[in-house]
Amino acid sequence: MTTSDERTGEPREDRSERRRTEPEADASSTATYLVERRAILDRALRDEDHSTLSSIMRRNPPVPVALLALGPAQVRERFVKWLRNANIDIELASSATDALVRLGERTHALLFTDRLELVEAVRQLHAGSASHVIFVDIDGKVGARQALRRGANDCMPAEAGGEEFWAHLTTARRIASLASALQLALTDNRILSTIDELTRCGSRRFFEHEFPREVERAVRLRRPLSLVMSDIDHFKAVNDSHGHDVGDEVLREFAARLNHGLRLGEDWVARIGGEEFAVVLPEVASEEAFQIAQRLCERVWGSPHETAAGPLQVTGSFGVCAFEPLRGERRTSVHALVKAADAALYESKRAGRNRVTAVPTA
Ligand code: GH3
Ligand code: MG
Ligand code: MG
Repeated sequence: MTTSDERTGEPREDRSERRRTEPEADASSTATYLVERRAILDRALRDEDHSTLSSIMRRNPPVPVALLALGPAQVRERFVKWLRNANIDIELASSATDALVRLGERTHALLFTDRLELVEAVRQLHAGSASHVIFVDIDGKVGARQALRRGANDCMPAEAGGEEFWAHLTTARRIASLASALQLALTDNRILSTIDELTRCGSRRFFEHEFPREVERAVRLRRPLSLVMSDIDHFKAVNDSHGHDVGDEVLREFAARLNHGLRLGEDWVARIGGEEFAVVLPEVASEEAFQIAQRLCERVWGSPHETAAGPLQVTGSFGVCAFEPLRGERRTSVHALVKAADAALYESKRAGRNRVTAVPTA
């Protein structure tokens, strides 16, 4: 979505819209849920608490969906009725081509078909399409050996009823639930890799993925963008004097103070090194970025950080740089911005720490 900027009349992306349509960009909203879920899973695994494990697994994976590509109407209707009774969601494909399109669009746990060429075609699809393919043998014409050889996982007669149908379905369900638990774990891991678990800021990986997008957007729309690099002062001394756990507490508190007061869903913080953080301020030019960084610097030293070792005085050094197209800058790059902000941060360290330095982009 694009709207017009009041000051310049230039097209302007609606950022809230952008965040909503790109879920992986909004790491923080899912962070708490995922980190807590992972903690529960870790505990249950350690304690071999099978009932918790199975309740998590049962509650969370999506309901299995079966795709039916079956020619004869009576066979199709019978399978629909049985699968409904088994509480499996159903999608009907009108042809083999339609089935392939549907399989390409979403993951189906099961595929029931009486067409061998579809079985073969499905096996050519990339991973993530139907995980369990059941060949339905009309009038026993094809036979299990042939069906399995062509790529089916199972073969059942079209007229299978009662116990025989349930036997096939039980195996299929077991595999389907395993496949959806795996799918869920993969999605969780993908999101988790964008979150720094200790501080719940974005991870370094998140920064490496998102910051280039911010830069590209700023250059394309000619909008300002600021980057603030910050590093905790003499952090090694905290670890050395009070231990690693207290160091971790300071890291968490430092990150919380950086996050506090930033614009929600707009500005974002990533932990890009041990005790080094990047604060990204889209739509913010250098003077305002400098003021924001000063506010953050004050917030860090303004009151002691409460830790298990008692209150600790913590300070941080900050380096600011901005891309300012409205001042005539036409281009910039991720490298130029990071290098300039790093140089500014280094200058703050050199000049005595607990301060903010701003530099123009290189
Ligand atoms: P300076 O003011 O120059 O930045 O000094 P410093 O002591 O902060 O910097 P230095 O690079 O010497 O030390 C950083 C320390 O951060 C060393 C490392 O053990 C510690 N560190 C890195 N990651 C973690 C972490 O996740 N937890 C804890 N507790 N410490 C960490
Ligand atoms: Mg440091
Ligand atoms: Mg450092």
